[in-house]
Amino acid sequence: NMMFDQLTSALTEVAKNLGPKQRITESSIKPALRQVRRALLDADVNIDVADALIEGVKKRNLGDEVIKGVSAEQQFIKSMYDELLDMMGGDSKSSSPMGGVENSAPAATLAVGEVGNPAVILLAGLQGAGKTTAAGKLALYLKEREADYSAVGETDEPVVATKLPKRNRKVLLVAADVYRPAAIKQLEILAESIGVEVFSMGTDADPVDIAKQAVQKAKDEGFDTVIVDTAGRQVVDKDLMMELKNIQTTVKPDETLLVVDAMTGQEAASLTAAFDSAVGLTGAILTKLDGDSRGGAAVSVRGVSGKPIKFVGVGEKTADLEPFFPDRMASRILG
Ligand code: GDP
Repeated sequence: NMMFDQLTSALTEVAKNLGPKQRITESSIKPALRQVRRALLDADVNIDVADALIEGVKKRNLGDEVIKGVSAEQQFIKSMYDELLDMMGGDSKSSSPMGGVENSAPAATLAVGEVGNPAVILLAGLQGAGKTTAAGKLALYLKEREADYSAVGETDEPVVATKLPKRNRKVLLVAADVYRPAAIKQLEILAESIGVEVFSMGTDADPVDIAKQAVQKAKDEGFDTVIVDTAGRQVVDKDLMMELKNIQTTVKPDETLLVVDAMTGQEAASLTAAFDSAVGLTGAILTKLDGDSRGGAAVSVRGVSGKPIKFVGVGEKTADLEPFFPDRMASRILG
């Protein structure tokens, strides 16, 4: 749990100092909150998000909702868990009294298409964020049968299954990054390894035209999902934003997902906000959550951009993609 080490140990220490019996008061909680705030900022959580979390924890501990028969220590941890859950788009009302997974559900679902009317998913992102890899991962994830779900998550409760999109999908991957020839090749190799078809028109075609023709092909040939890998950006670039917009206008995607790198911490959150105001997003895919990142991205993305993290990348292999579960992430942060 490298990602949240400092935050986790700060929380443990704070909880211990509050003691097993003592009631939480304004003065007993003040140093604790200061310590947690510092740990949040050290984990590269956005400052407004950190302040909102702290304010929420304070309210929960000093308000009327204090749980009877629970120690100050437990009360504090539970309030932190609930605040993190709300911030990441989970539902704290269904969390168990001591925190932890009771009603595990992903933060958001993915649009589901059908034969003749495929769901179109547009992937955008900065170069190196893991966009092309994510395209392959998502294709594999959607292609797998429903029964394979237990391999991805920890539990396989009915509530999870009904909230997830129906899978066993017929996916068409689309190579619309014409500026980097290697990107098309990379997608083709990925696609072959997972047994998914790729639509490509080489590097001379117009990305808008590629997307348009791909969706037509998908309609004609019985695909129910189209995943469009767009050009990677070096920075938030006007021309490429315009191109994204033109693709959107033409194929009217059901999802526009930004692929962002968790290693960039709170930058991932501000980038999501920037892309959202430029082209409108339905959510984000947070990659490299397996790496040595400080966790700030996972906590900050939704609070800063208002957009949910829909999936997380947890490794370099095509199977390393999971739906984002706010409760599991909150439990992980609390250690
Ligand atoms: P793109 O430029 O956004 O299309 O990025 P790529 O898909 O080519 O990925 C860039 C690098 O990040 C590659 O070396 C990938 O293997 C790596 N990568 C992508 N996703 C993950 C992830 O979730 N975890 C780890 N550890 N590496 C990843």
